[in-house]
Amino acid sequence: MNYQNTSLLIDGKWRPGASGKTIAVLNPATEEQIGTVAHADRADLDEALAAADRGFKVWRAVAPFERGKIMRRAAALMRERADKIATLMTLEQGKVLAEARIETLFAADVIEWFAEESRRAYGRVIPARGPGIYQIAIKEPVGPVAAFTPWNFPINQVCRKLSAALAAGCSIIVKAPEETPASPAELLRAFVDAGVPDGVINLVFGVPAEISEYLIPHPIIRKMSFTGSTAVGKQLAALAGLHMKRATMELGGHAPAIVFNDADIASAAKIISGAKFRNAGQVCIAPTRLLVQDKVYKDFVGKFTEAAKAIKVGNGLDADSTMGALANPRRMTAIESFVQDAVGKGGRLAAGGHRVGNKGYFFEPTVVTDVPKDARAMNEEPFGPLALITPFSTFEEAAEEANRLPYGLASYAFTSSTKTATAIGAGIESGMVAINNAGLALPENPFGGVKDSGYGSEGGIEAMEAYLITKFISQTGV
Ligand code: NAD
Repeated sequence: MNYQNTSLLIDGKWRPGASGKTIAVLNPATEEQIGTVAHADRADLDEALAAADRGFKVWRAVAPFERGKIMRRAAALMRERADKIATLMTLEQGKVLAEARIETLFAADVIEWFAEESRRAYGRVIPARGPGIYQIAIKEPVGPVAAFTPWNFPINQVCRKLSAALAAGCSIIVKAPEETPASPAELLRAFVDAGVPDGVINLVFGVPAEISEYLIPHPIIRKMSFTGSTAVGKQLAALAGLHMKRATMELGGHAPAIVFNDADIASAAKIISGAKFRNAGQVCIAPTRLLVQDKVYKDFVGKFTEAAKAIKVGNGLDADSTMGALANPRRMTAIESFVQDAVGKGGRLAAGGHRVGNKGYFFEPTVVTDVPKDARAMNEEPFGPLALITPFSTFEEAAEEANRLPYGLASYAFTSSTKTATAIGAGIESGMVAINNAGLALPENPFGGVKDSGYGSEGGIEAMEAYLITKFISQTGV
């Protein structure tokens, strides 16, 4: 199948950038150029802003019931087109086709959940202090949104923001990833084909910092949402704060996965390895610091290492590959350097550790055990196929290590004790905790972090709240 070049979507029209400039798109499995993406400059952004301004006035007036119908049509189109879209995603991002397909189909679930929620943006009636006074709190869409999304889940990252914004009645300008542009463009195409009016959804690409620095302060934009690294998130949060813009920040993570002596070790090794090496580890909620209690340490390391070694690394389009290429050369260099540093500081390489072949950004699923706390990977988000295993003795020791870092996105724990599970649920500083499973990220559940992992939620009813304002009306009859 041929890869397709990606255009901008502005005011309902798919078109090149005003300057005609394009950016090359590479296949991370071959390092070859497979296409281009249009580059938006200031003139394009001004048109997108004017379109989003007009689109907001149109879309906020569409009844939530009707918005939901259009959104459900978009979900159906995503399901119909899943095979084609998944192939585009694998070509540009590197993940295996089965995962790309799951992500595309999952988008349909996300869209449908928010389509339903659009009818439930309830306000409330507040009892008044005197007769004949009606006090109501109503929910209204916040206004045109600017959304910035990364390349690890090219569709999912856009889908959560886009669906919540549309359900709430907002218009949106999406700045999707230049490295993986075609699959998110197909998501927007499904909405356009489903009948979303012109100007309501707009898609741009270009120089990320130039676009965010122009859109976030712009008076037309009322809210921004960013998914990406903590470093960039802090800059954008500061910019949003300076201009009094509502913001949602879904940033980095460094998830602890705590395995207690009383856990089902085979099940824990299977679940953690699945969550770790999915999408070649380029997942903000991936388990990274595996903390294993001393009595089961050896057993767990054996089973986890075996699972890592069983992974078949290869081109995502090949049916027998179970882990694809890393999305870009930056991740490969970063993982190589994290491994060298961890081993140099005394960590033991139990599996992987090297690039696979010399064409394509393939890297072995890597396990380093007994890693000292001062290893860089124990402190910075590796964002790749690197698992770090260290032993612990007591609950307090594990909890202290789990909470040591400024990150607080996801955490995992494995135990057969209800008492331990409850203590973990209460004691871990993170936005999400999964106990004896890895069941995070479903559309109906809150999804977000604390501390340096950001603020706001991208799932559950909380995700809708981010795109709504509360207006209080006190009314007395004349
Ligand atoms: P990066 O930090 O420069 O970029 C991360 C994302 O932010 C990219 O999509 C990029 O286009 C965007 N971005 C960067 N600067 C921006 C700006 N000024 N305005 C708007 N958008 C901007 O680096 P990277 O190499 O792409 O990724 C590296 C790190 O980012 C990873 O190690 C990981 O920690 C983090 N990351 C997190 C997620 C996530 O799901 N939370 C996804 C991708 C990357």
